[in-house]
Amino acid sequence: MLYVVPTPIGNLEDITLRALRILKEAAFVLAEDTRTSRKLLDHYGIERPLRAYHAHNEHGVLSGIVSQLKEGVTAALISDAGTPAISDPGFLLVRECIRQGVRVECLPGPTAFVPALVASGLPCDTFHFEGFLPHKKGRQTRLRFLSDLPHTFLLYESPMRLVKCLEQLAEVCGPDRPACVCRELTKLYEETARGTLAMLAADFKARQAVKGEIVVVVGGRDSPPTPEGGGTRQ
Ligand code: SAM
Repeated sequence: MLYVVPTPIGNLEDITLRALRILKEAAFVLAEDTRTSRKLLDHYGIERPLRAYHAHNEHGVLSGIVSQLKEGVTAALISDAGTPAISDPGFLLVRECIRQGVRVECLPGPTAFVPALVASGLPCDTFHFEGFLPHKKGRQTRLRFLSDLPHTFLLYESPMRLVKCLEQLAEVCGPDRPACVCRELTKLYEETARGTLAMLAADFKARQAVKGEIVVVVGGRDSPPTPEGGGTRQ
């Protein structure tokens, strides 16, 4: 059996009791970066063997892992942070397990876009998760698609590309579209900046450097303007 186990996106308290038990009981733990995950497991006093499973080897190791699971071994899959397969490796393994009759269970737990969506204050009954935009080819097509969505959408973005991303979004969605930038969720310098796309682009452009991990949340095509046009930062 394969357990997909979410791990903290910053704050090490954000792991469930069940996740810790599953990691302790697994025959081995598949990890994106074994050094990063060794530190995490050490923190919780978990000594299970770690095996590399990442974007560069997943095609090669897939069948060997699934064969072992079919023989009755139970393994856990983790990524560097958050939920595996969400903008991280994992999908191929889950699909192959299902195809070959191996039971797959994904534990509920940390993922960056859910707290960003809820904290944004933008409608969250229906939403679209885009993940990372392509850097070059296909970027404009995706931006145009997003701009026309009737509901809130979310992007993962690197700090280096944040300003460019906000400017491009303002261009296709219009400068007054309400949005929110969540930076360093669950960490010491956590920040939630709310406003219009134009305000947020100007705000982050004025900073010397933007650091940390970022989720961008944008209101849908028909979303009401931000209250009194104002922005907030927490
Ligand atoms: N699997 C992860 C998840 O469940 O959210 C996502 C992994 S993806 C490789 C990493 C991206 O997720 C970052 O570049 C950032 O956009 C977002 N992210 C991860 N941790 C974050 C945090 N603490 N605060 C804000 N964004 C975060």
